[in-house]
Amino acid sequence: MAAPSDRGGDGRQTSSIAIPSTDSAILQFIEDVTRDAAILQKELLFEILRRNHATEYLAALGLDGSSDDYELFKRVAPPVTYEDIQPFIKRIANGDKSPILCSQPITRFLTSSGTSRGERKLIPTTAEELDRKRNYHRLVTPVMRQYVDGLEKGKHVRFLFVRSESRTPAGLSAMPALTTMFRSPQFRRMAKTSEYSLTSPVEAIVCDDVFQSMYCQLLCSLINRNKVFSVGAAFPSIILRVIRFLEEKWPQFLHDIREKKLRGYMVTDVALRDATEEILAANSEEGGEGQAELLEKAYESCQKNGGKDLIKRLWPCAKYVEVIVTGTMVQYVPMLQFYAGGLPLVSTIYGCSECYCALNLRPLSSPSSISYTFIPTMAYFEFLPIHSEPSSASLVDLVNVEVGKEYEVVVTTDTGLYRYRIGDVLRVTGFHNSSPEFQIVGRTNVLISIDTDKTDEETLLRAVQIAISKKLDGTGFRLVDFTSMADLSTIPGHYVLFWELTSFSNIGQSRSSCTPEASVMEECCLEMEESLDTVYRQGRVCEKCIGPLEIRIVSPGTFDALMDCCYAAGSSMDQYKTPRCVNSEALIHLLNSRVSHSFFSPKCPVWSP
Ligand code: AMP
Repeated sequence: MAAPSDRGGDGRQTSSIAIPSTDSAILQFIEDVTRDAAILQKELLFEILRRNHATEYLAALGLDGSSDDYELFKRVAPPVTYEDIQPFIKRIANGDKSPILCSQPITRFLTSSGTSRGERKLIPTTAEELDRKRNYHRLVTPVMRQYVDGLEKGKHVRFLFVRSESRTPAGLSAMPALTTMFRSPQFRRMAKTSEYSLTSPVEAIVCDDVFQSMYCQLLCSLINRNKVFSVGAAFPSIILRVIRFLEEKWPQFLHDIREKKLRGYMVTDVALRDATEEILAANSEEGGEGQAELLEKAYESCQKNGGKDLIKRLWPCAKYVEVIVTGTMVQYVPMLQFYAGGLPLVSTIYGCSECYCALNLRPLSSPSSISYTFIPTMAYFEFLPIHSEPSSASLVDLVNVEVGKEYEVVVTTDTGLYRYRIGDVLRVTGFHNSSPEFQIVGRTNVLISIDTDKTDEETLLRAVQIAISKKLDGTGFRLVDFTSMADLSTIPGHYVLFWELTSFSNIGQSRSSCTPEASVMEECCLEMEESLDTVYRQGRVCEKCIGPLEIRIVSPGTFDALMDCCYAAGSSMDQYKTPRCVNSEALIHLLNSRVSHSFFSPKCPVWSP
């Protein structure tokens, strides 16, 4: 078998972690593991079960370390959700050190952006798994270098943020996967020595105060603007947030760049202050005044067009914007394209706290045609066909999925997750060697429901996109962000969409309230209803158990306030995704307090039996 297989001295399989060091060897590694996907997946599951058969969870399924374990596991282990294994996780969090789920010590938890009954999910992890995740990131650069020359010659702007650590009752640390990575000594070492050099000092990335961090990261990126090769963040909402912050604080940035001093923002974090001032001083020989004038010109010419092309103009040598624009992030694409000035939007990886899964092997493909190729050494992957019974018999192996079909991802990891349903729905688009390529469709869970209707995130997102493209495009308005709720206070209940809009002339300017004609908004309501599924329309037209869909326009800045509110309640900036449906009273209150106008669907959508 050509794929690297490196057994450690204690017989532990380390093939899933060992990643070669040169670009060509890494590309060959990707070819090898995708070609040998079937055998590597089988080997990996054997190894996971060999190491963990004596855990309470697997022993209860009858595993005993014998050669039958593999077949037994495939036959009897049920697909589970977080709620199913939460009692085990609670015991670990409370300090039970016995091998409950995993034979290796659980060193910490990763906090997922997903929640369970209002609490953030705690995903067990081990030192080895953290290494696996760290190494996985090393696959990205060689793939990128196949398409873009000179990556190592420039600097890279990445707006990266951490979230402060929390502790379980037994004192185990819990934080998001990216925070764990940024706080590690390996990241610090890598940031100082890697050829892939970031504009943000590590001190800014690990600063707990998000605005101090944002100010300094932006300042350092602007100071280095002529050396910047790429710009990015984990999710689009971060990039848009950073742009707004830049616009709000623009005079301060300009002043600091002119003076080569950190004065514009109260930075109390001493390490951050020192690191930023060092960068300002190091760049002082590059002509402060001239540099500031050029920057000011670039910024002002964009502002004349509402901020259009801002990224391209502020960082004129940038070749691409790295940010996830797939799945539910697709709605941000027009806004990002507006700012990016023609730069490609590059989404490199698909992964989650539970495990990293797949790579985009054609990073320059357009957002609508991005597919991710599963890397068979990251975890044992199985797939539950959508709408099928969640049973062990329904699960399909990685190499046996069918092109065109949709599946929910189910993973088995070395960290104690056995047939765990991540909750993402993927559509198979093809194969790279024998490993499948997928598009991200969305999440499995139902988002909003009034009666027997069950509208999921993908359907709602599509309805919004259709309404925008058919009714709003061409009116001079853009959707900034949206969320929804089921309003059950009316009889019958109805869907409410909260939309924040901006007009072209207002993008990036002082954000006065803006609303299109009432008739346009009413048509948007109706167009959305026409795009919802047959159960919804039947409920609306025939059973009249659903009232007319309502769009409430919220004032500019509302979705920033929503993000702040989620952040204050424990979401991480790096992981934050606008909730597509709100049900917490606090968030609903916040949204309702900022409604400027409201519009209803003027008539029933079309429905026929
Ligand atoms: P978390 O566990 O908080 O890091 O969130 C992981 C979730 O983010 C995944 O389960 C997906 O729903 C979403 N996600 C991660 N990567 C991508 C991607 N490339 N495209 C779309 N959604 C993604």
